Amino acid sequence: MVLSAVGGAYAQEETPSGPVYIVQAGDTLTTIAVQFGVTVDDLLAANNMGPGDLLYVGDAITIPGLEGVTGILETHTIPFGETLRSLSRRYQIPTSQLVKLNRVVTPWELYAGSSLILPVSQTEVPQLSRAVLAPGQTLLELAVRENTNPWSLAQVNQLTSLSDTMPGDVLFIPGQTFAGPGAFPAPITEVQVSAFYQGETGAIHIFAEEGSAFEGTLINHTFSFYAVESGHFAGLQGIHALAQPGLYPLLIKGTLPNGSTFTHSQPVLVQGLGYLFETITVPPALIDPVTTNKEEDFLRPFVNQFTPEKYWQGLFLSPSPCPTCINSGFGNRRSYNGSAFTYFHGGVDFPPVALEITASADGVVVFADLLEVRGNFTLIDHGHGIFSAYMHQSELYVKAGDTIKAGQVIGLIGNTGRSTGAHLHWEIWVGGVQVNPLTWLETPYP
Ligand SMILES: [Zn+2]
Repeated sequence: MVLSAVGGAYAQEETPSGPVYIVQAGDTLTTIAVQFGVTVDDLLAANNMGPGDLLYVGDAITIPGLEGVTGILETHTIPFGETLRSLSRRYQIPTSQLVKLNRVVTPWELYAGSSLILPVSQTEVPQLSRAVLAPGQTLLELAVRENTNPWSLAQVNQLTSLSDTMPGDVLFIPGQTFAGPGAFPAPITEVQVSAFYQGETGAIHIFAEEGSAFEGTLINHTFSFYAVESGHFAGLQGIHALAQPGLYPLLIKGTLPNGSTFTHSQPVLVQGLGYLFETITVPPALIDPVTTNKEEDFLRPFVNQFTPEKYWQGLFLSPSPCPTCINSGFGNRRSYNGSAFTYFHGGVDFPPVALEITASADGVVVFADLLEVRGNFTLIDHGHGIFSAYMHQSELYVKAGDTIKAGQVIGLIGNTGRSTGAHLHWEIWVGGVQVNPLTWLETPYP
């Protein structure tokens, strides 16, 4: 039985001629050839098959051209928190084999959620735990501390020499089996990342020892993590509605309870959403960039704040008594007076069904005054970098510094500022970025 070897230690007489792939429903010789970058003819030859032979689900097909790779080839999804290096160590497969097997060209291909082919009979790995080299610490010192020897450490970690290490590298140590992401040090037991979409709120959860601290960076925005409960940290970051769909690095920096630090960067996929396109004609003064940019620059420091206290609880409330009465939705791409579609709608517009405007969640008013573009404008801080904004009001009922309760009346709908008719323009900001506020009515963020 050639496929039962443990840890890649095949007995000499049982060495198979190459890794095997188990035929799945829907596979054909052509799809298998494409998946592994070989020709159908090579597949036929490697398996002593003729063109008329049939494939059956469950058949073991030898994949040619992968000398040195053995085992059953399976496709795995790469989670956030695993790299080529950590997977190589976790499954005890040289990175060169993984690169060859997957035809990996750049680290960008190993984004969270992408697929990687692993030879799984080699995944019965020795029990491993994780440790990080402290600055100035050698592999020998780490080996002594972990009651092992440096050559075992080098072998388990696929190192070419005892000096082939770097500070902060998460090394695997023979010992207790661990659960958790292999590219994160041991005090971190789980990392969850949400899907990321244009104009939506990204959420990252880290489960780690109490006393840890984390910070993230995604698309030029650095965001803080906060403790949801003991050992559970969360970070929220808005994705700009005009962000190009594609891969972006998500960087996590951490400080562990013992004071050591680490970083992990891995691409994540930002997906597009089918936002509408609107062509709008307005008096030119309404979009005069001199005024609009000045006001945005004035407001930016307010929405970039991070209040460590959390004021909101559960779902946000619509500021309108008719949550579905929406004149214009979030994220619509806009062309003003024949311009390119370089503008977007940063909030949701409600008609004056009733005049009273209610606060979306508990918070503290950080700004309530008349602005040239936004008219009578209220900005409420809900803590943790989350803000709601209410524009074009005829009356302001609250002032900066006021503590606000969810559902409290904060003003009346109006037509102040650069507005072409009475309406409420309502926004939610997450980490300095406007996001689809309607999502906050349906999704409870931690
Ligand atoms: Zn609007």
